[in-house]
Amino acid sequence: MKYWNEEIETMPLEGMRKLQLENLKKTLEWVYGRIPLYKGKFDAVGFKPEDLKELEDLSKLPFTARTDLRDNYPFGLCAVPLAEVIRIHASSGTTGKPITGPYTQSDLDQWTECMARNLYAAGVRSNDICQNAYGMGLFTGGLGFHQGATRLGCAVIPISSGQTERQILVMQDFGVTVLLCTPTYALTIAERAEEMGVKIKDLPLRIGVFGAEPWTIAMRKEIEERMGINAMEAYGLTECGGPGMAFDCVAQNGLHVNEDQFIAEVIDPVTGEVLPLGEKGELVFTAIQRRAMPLIRYRTRDITTLRREECECGRTLIKMDKIYGRSDDMLIIGGVNVFPSQIESILLEVREIEPQYVIIVKKKGYLDQLHVDVEARQETYDAGPKKIAEVEKMVEGKIRGIIGIGMKIRLVPPKSITRSEGKAKRVIDERKM
Ligand SMILES: [Zn+2]
Repeated sequence: MKYWNEEIETMPLEGMRKLQLENLKKTLEWVYGRIPLYKGKFDAVGFKPEDLKELEDLSKLPFTARTDLRDNYPFGLCAVPLAEVIRIHASSGTTGKPITGPYTQSDLDQWTECMARNLYAAGVRSNDICQNAYGMGLFTGGLGFHQGATRLGCAVIPISSGQTERQILVMQDFGVTVLLCTPTYALTIAERAEEMGVKIKDLPLRIGVFGAEPWTIAMRKEIEERMGINAMEAYGLTECGGPGMAFDCVAQNGLHVNEDQFIAEVIDPVTGEVLPLGEKGELVFTAIQRRAMPLIRYRTRDITTLRREECECGRTLIKMDKIYGRSDDMLIIGGVNVFPSQIESILLEVREIEPQYVIIVKKKGYLDQLHVDVEARQETYDAGPKKIAEVEKMVEGKIRGIIGIGMKIRLVPPKSITRSEGKAKRVIDERKM
């Protein structure tokens, strides 16, 4: 079979819109009657669930923000009694209290379905051996991928993240064909394998399904080349149920959104206005099949573009571009908006350096300044200070040419930047310290 769920994944637009409207209607009634925050939000704009006549009416509703989750911690947004909840995940978040994600049995089934579509579209099949190196636990990555790969009938190794040498031993000894982890950790594994003299390219490993942090196309190519695999993406948020909300297909040109379960919108992050397809803005999701915590118009803070186009894979599901960055991560330097992903794309094109870097934001007087520490490749480092200075100048020039601002590049010795086993910390903002 070509698709995990052919009916949904290739549904003509009219049929999908009808299905979305039905599911949205049910969900609005569900949250209005059960979650005080939503009753309050709807009442404040004079909206009753029965006022929903067409999908476009969704734009009349207020957004849900991360602060709403924080203010209603831990279960204020849960629409069912805890007796009906069978799983609770949480994401640590960078500050303050965690975000909780409760699931009913049907929520868990839908999530597993999304993950199965995601993995199947990435090329994973029942005879694959999957090494699941996402952190197992509260984080949705570990169990989400575990459930999806199990549903496909794969042999799943729930190794979790960390102990990189053991990961490589297992990969060799068990004949692993699929690696599941964050893109950063994939890079850490690739590098450690090279140091151990293990050629991953010669192993049976053929696919990686990576997610849980934004990564650039340049990073994808780097991982594909170093490991000799197809690097595919999974997108999701704990707030909306975890990975599998949107996924890569063979085209590797944007992620298909599981539209029967999530309505995606892109808005102007300042005015909140819905933007037409093709325009870049903040991604907003409404979960239309979840029952424990269906968020309405949740602002993801992720910046992307939505496209409805014929895809070579045959899926009709709407596509979103790879995330350009998180609005939280956006740096404003001398009035210019800069995403760390832009810097990463440029760094990864330079052969003299490793794809390991840290961006440091400093304040000098009234001016914000960017410093980037990036690792030299061994050959570059061995060539001495003159070569290092030359590469630093060259990278500074490239960045000024493309992004339009100056930043100080410093080549640091090989292996001096801490390797990550999960989500990488790439930006240190000293202005906030
Ligand atoms: Zn496609």
